[in-house]
Amino acid sequence: MYLRVEHIGIAVKSINDSNDLFRKLLGEPHYKVEQVDSEKVSTSFFKIGDNKIELLEATGPDSPIAKFIEKRGEGIHHIALEVDDIYKEMKRLQAEGFTLLSAEPKKGADNKLVCFLHPKSTNGVLIELCQEINPV
Ligand code: ZN
Repeated sequence: MYLRVEHIGIAVKSINDSNDLFRKLLGEPHYKVEQVDSEKVSTSFFKIGDNKIELLEATGPDSPIAKFIEKRGEGIHHIALEVDDIYKEMKRLQAEGFTLLSAEPKKGADNKLVCFLHPKSTNGVLIELCQEINPV
């Protein structure tokens, strides 16, 4: 079951510049920065009510974010949907014909299990499923 839009991921060239920009935009600084080595990205997170903005900067030229910016420039990279049971949703979506980018959920930023859907099967929008690890 889907719970909400958890965050929107935005690909940026410089996370430092964009942290300043989003602080001005939202009136609050980011609350967390985190490097995700498996995805070759640096991330920072801003709260907007119950939702978040995740900024993503490539940490190397072979990062998916570097490739994204090369092709499409800075901008919205993905929409993250929070689910209550990521394994169940992955199974359901696979049966519906969506292409999952990993067979198993991966450890993502911000204490989440994540799985991405191939944008070719979702109208060009990269969708991230996420589930909090050990919710309190
Ligand atoms: Zn994300």
